[in-house]
Amino acid sequence: MAIFWHRYVSLVVYVQIRQLPLWLFLWMLSPGVVAAGREIETRILDLMERVPLIDGHNDLPLQLRKLYRNQLSKIDLHNINSTNTNIEKLKLGRVGAQFWSAYVLCNAQNKDAVRLTLEQIDIIKRMCKEYEEFELVTSSVGIEKSKKIACLIGIEGGHSIDSSLATLRMYYDLGVRYMSLTHTCNTPWAETSAHGLHHFYPRNTGLTEFGKKKNKGLVMVTFHTEFVSCSSTANVSTVADHFDHIRKIAGTASIGIGGDFDGVNGFPEGLEDVSKYPALIQELFDRGWNESELEGVLRKNILRVFTTIEQVRDNSNLKPDEAEISVNEVNNSCRLNFANIVIANKKHNISGKNSQEKDTSSVITIFSMLTCICLQVVLVR
Ligand SMILES: [Zn+2]
Repeated sequence: MAIFWHRYVSLVVYVQIRQLPLWLFLWMLSPGVVAAGREIETRILDLMERVPLIDGHNDLPLQLRKLYRNQLSKIDLHNINSTNTNIEKLKLGRVGAQFWSAYVLCNAQNKDAVRLTLEQIDIIKRMCKEYEEFELVTSSVGIEKSKKIACLIGIEGGHSIDSSLATLRMYYDLGVRYMSLTHTCNTPWAETSAHGLHHFYPRNTGLTEFGKKKNKGLVMVTFHTEFVSCSSTANVSTVADHFDHIRKIAGTASIGIGGDFDGVNGFPEGLEDVSKYPALIQELFDRGWNESELEGVLRKNILRVFTTIEQVRDNSNLKPDEAEISVNEVNNSCRLNFANIVIANKKHNISGKNSQEKDTSSVITIFSMLTCICLQVVLVR
């Protein structure tokens, strides 16, 4: 009905402005395109061709591990159907750039989270190299220049760095461009909103003052049915309600899309896979969102944030933070305790370090750690 309403308005405008070109009039009356299970107006698809979506979160790499043990040779990503994501569907969904999630389960915290994360980065890089439709990029300019589906890497959850800023820096060197502070588990330095799901660091609360600062970032809306409806059913309208709400609270400049396809089991009716983004854009348009707002949601908002972060990086003279987290804070028996090694060496008269130096070198403030992390985080979800 909403589509017809818009056409009616268009027709009225035509009657009032008689000089309107014939081609524009015909275009207004042209039938919509049936795509993604609902009628999508040509103007929406044209908009998405002109301003392709940058989606902030897709868990296809997780499915590649779970279903295929990261054996890319066993599958064809063009038309694989065991996942929400394949290349054909990405094209139908007008996806221009995708942050692929290098996610490892919280249960890997204090075990092999770093190795698993590296393996997920590896599968993303291989995937983006092997398929000519993809191009791995690491900058906002890279996204804009790419004629393909630009691939970017994000890390989902601070447990992936094992409380090590050096590890975070090395991820950056490998091409990672954001890390969310937590997944569903606390880390030694940040509290998750998903209370009670995991036993890690239960006494941790909140973030430092730095973490609470406004950063003109983005809320990238997930489509996960349970998150958007608190039940097992939802539809495009349910998701659009969240967009309306965030628009009211924070403004349209603060909204992006992070569908979380292949990260969970339930997706709303009409938004079941990556081909269906146009249905959401159509719904928002029908609710009165103008083209400029939709361009922001699709692409321009995240490019703005990305560019701003790059400017901070390029204009600051900060040296890499050498702080270490203390063994006590991490409380992980798998960690090698270098303090003990120093003591052992002293007994053998090998180390010149005195205990005072040792104590000083192992001191860390969580504040400085989070400061550095936030500098490297493109967006925090
Ligand atoms: Zn995810």
